[in-house]
Amino acid sequence: MKLIYKHDNIAILHSAKNVLALNDIESFVKDEHGSTMSARFGISNMFHELWLTHDQDFEKASTIIENEIENPEPKASWVCVECNEENDGSFDACWNCQNVHASK
Ligand SMILES: [Zn+2]
Repeated sequence: MKLIYKHDNIAILHSAKNVLALNDIESFVKDEHGSTMSARFGISNMFHELWLTHDQDFEKASTIIENEIENPEPKASWVCVECNEENDGSFDACWNCQNVHASK
């Protein structure tokens, strides 16, 4: 077994697990319900861990996580209908005139 990914957001960890499952890589989440220590001290920002069942999947799995979870494909840029400025795909509104992107 090998630790492949750590995150304090369990939802992100589960989406990583799902992405790996889609690629036929078996993994499981550790400490999903928190440890006794963190419950006692009320620590809610603990890190959850995603472990690989098979060590030989590590290289493939880390590539997948890097591509799909850490650096998702950049969204296509778009052109503002109000001022014709080109905007980065990560912007919800035009940087120039604040017009909200219509196709969102
Ligand atoms: Zn604009």
